[in-house]
Formats: sequence, C-alpha cells, structure tokens
Amino acid sequence: MTLVPLPAFADNYIWMLHDGSSAIVVDPGDAQPVFDALAHHKLQLAAILVTHHHADHTGGVAALHAATGAPVHGPARERIPEPFTPYVQGDIAEALGLSFEVIDVPGHTAGHIAYFLPAAESRAPLLFCGDTLFSGGCGRLFEGTPAQMLASLDALAALPGDTRVCCAHEYTLANLRFARAVEPGNADLTHYNARCESLRAQGQPTLPSQLATERLINPFLRSREATVLRAVREHAELSADAAEADVFAALRQWKNDFR
Ligand code: ZN
Ligand code: FE
Repeated sequence: MTLVPLPAFADNYIWMLHDGSSAIVVDPGDAQPVFDALAHHKLQLAAILVTHHHADHTGGVAALHAATGAPVHGPARERIPEPFTPYVQGDIAEALGLSFEVIDVPGHTAGHIAYFLPAAESRAPLLFCGDTLFSGGCGRLFEGTPAQMLASLDALAALPGDTRVCCAHEYTLANLRFARAVEPGNADLTHYNARCESLRAQGQPTLPSQLATERLINPFLRSREATVLRAVREHAELSADAAEADVFAALRQWKNDFR
C-alpha cells in the first residue's frame, strides 16, 4: 500500500491510498488532482471516503463518483453529495480489501467522523481525521462544543502511538508557532518545529505526523498537562475549579485570537 498526499487549493491534502492498481481517496474537495493522480499512477478509483460536509472536503465527490462509479462512504449525520453509505461510531467501511474503523469525532462539525486503519504486517496504523486533529493543532469549533472536541481528541489520542496521522490541511507551522507560545520550554516541540521548518523549506509536506509525536507537542492533546494549564491560566480568566472543557475552551479561544 502506498500513501500519497495530493495537494489541493491553498493548503488542503486529499489523501490517496493505493495498491498499485486500485486507490481510495479521502476528502476530495477538488476532483482534478485526483483525476491527475489516477492517470499518472494508472489507478482505478475504488472508493471515496468523506470525513465531514465542508466544501473543501466534498467539492470533488460528485464528479469523481460520476466518472468512476466509485462508492462514497461518509458521515451519517451530515449532508454530503448523494448517494453515499452512511457511517457512525463503530461501523466498518470496507474498501480496497481493507477495513476502516469509523470513529465519531464531533467538534469541528457536528457529525464529523474519522477513519482508522489498524496496523498490518508491513504498514503502520493510519488515521484519516479530516479537520479534527491537525499536527500541532485542532480544527475550529464551528458546530460542536469544547467538551465534544476534547472528547473527540481524547478518542484519537488513545490510538496506537505509531499511528500515522493524515490531517486534511498543511497548517503545521502556524500551529507550532502557537504551540511554542503555550509551551516555550517544551524541547520536543522545539525539535519538531525545526524538522517541520526544514521540510517546508524543501517544499515537502509535514504530514503524515505520528500520534506519539502529537501527544508530546500538540497543546490540544495536552490541555491537562501542568505546563499547558499554567499557560492557559496566565492568559485567560479561569475559576479555580474550572472544568477540563473550560480549560480546553480557553486554549482554543487563545488560538483563535493568536496573531
Ligand atoms: Zn472543515
Ligand atoms: Fe477543511
């Protein structure tokens, strides 16, 4: 299996997974990069996976389905181009001879789902998490609550540490600038930032990231850590008995306002 990030728009990645003859794509916001990659690698499109309803993740679905007949898998609780097979937490999406486990991750949108592919003999686990978890950050809360997003990120953070995290946007460097403001003393973060800066300088994606790395550097997976808690309390008014979701909400707000 080969994993390929197809750049789209300004900073999206459409993830393609293929076996040399058949491919799946995740969140094709635009059809053309997918058509180009299918032609270039001489692949048939076997399935389209969608994580949430936003146009930059679904804009190419109808054209790809019409041209290839590839079945569409998507979130049961969201409106995406018909027809599609709807999935909720615990369902298995079968494609390319692989079984993708569906995880409900509300927060960015109300019905957002993620697809987790457990490890196989020669392949690390893969996570396609759309706009829920980014490297060094997380999606904005357009439809869900902070408590929902915190629970969604907790569910993703509990996956195996060697999971390759296939995020849908190249937001890493901007996220890390904020992460370093939150945890200036985090040495793992300093090292990771240097690595990502050098990748971007060479025009390379910073993704996929590894879940074990995200646990060490991503403030949104670390809102219970003493260093992050202290920084949030210095930045925002929080009562002494603020709940975990309140701390997470203040951290997310800080990032929204961060320039
Ligand atoms: Zn989105
Ligand atoms: Fe997006």
